[in-house]
Amino acid sequence: MNADLHCHSTVSDGTLEPQALAQRARANGVELWALTDHDEISGQQRARDTAASLGLDWLSGTEISVTFAGHTVHIVGLGFDIDDAALSAGLHATRGGRRQRADEMARGLAAVGIAGALEGALGYVSNPSLISRTHFARHLVDSGVCRDTHEVFRRFLVDGKPGFVEHRWAPLGDAVRWITAAGGVAVVAHPGRYKFTPTEEYALFSEFKAHGGLGMEVVTGSHSSADALKYADMALEFDLLASRGSDFHSHDESRIDLGQLPDLPARLTPVWEALQPRIRRSPA
Ligand code: AMP
Ligand code: MN
Ligand code: MN
Ligand code: MN
Repeated sequence: MNADLHCHSTVSDGTLEPQALAQRARANGVELWALTDHDEISGQQRARDTAASLGLDWLSGTEISVTFAGHTVHIVGLGFDIDDAALSAGLHATRGGRRQRADEMARGLAAVGIAGALEGALGYVSNPSLISRTHFARHLVDSGVCRDTHEVFRRFLVDGKPGFVEHRWAPLGDAVRWITAAGGVAVVAHPGRYKFTPTEEYALFSEFKAHGGLGMEVVTGSHSSADALKYADMALEFDLLASRGSDFHSHDESRIDLGQLPDLPARLTPVWEALQPRIRRSPA
């Protein structure tokens, strides 16, 4: 099954509207799709309605920013009730610190001679409550400071670099509970991207499970094939369901397009088996 359960629209740091993403997913052969904007669900109705009009099966989705053991971790939520008040309040609170963080990022960049980064980044933002590092990265590419967004992150936006600001996101347990209490399934996003020691990584999966988390991304645009094998083994070890998602943001920045991923290893249980009742099926 060609499921793609992770991507971003203009509601967070993607460059396409939810409707255009649904169309691109359909054109690329996706059979089950979720839009997972960072800390936001305001694109979900458009995603659902466009998917329905295209005959594309759909699950609700989001990607919540969490702080665990001093690192940022992303938790994908799938198949929750998009009208759940506690989830909406939790996402609203999680988005809350982004503007102030952006002010501090701009000050850090100004200190190394890059003036006007906040104003520049805001020119790329469509949702004023969701300014992200990606928007700064696009501005620094288009203004000629770097060649591509990866170079911007490496030189300016990761821990230890001038535009990086320590930030406290949601606690892991809160994010998992918001998703689960809204009827959804919580999934650890792209585990291969975090810089944890093996002990910290073990703690992440143990605590995630203890809070009610059920899934892990195994096949994602952020994983090498070696990462996918490693996390396939870990999904089995921790008895977690496996998810698959491109993490598509834009056609010229993302390594993997919607629906263009390897299959999940056959020995894993796909997360969509547990989500069958939550899938909005389309007639076509
Ligand atoms: P934020 O939520 O503002 O911290 O921004 C995180 C986003 O930045 C991620 O979701 C990615 O879209 C993007 N990102 C993180 N690291 C990189 C990188 N090395 N290269 C390009 N984009 C990145
Ligand atoms: Mn992103
Ligand atoms: Mn992520
Ligand atoms: Mn993502």
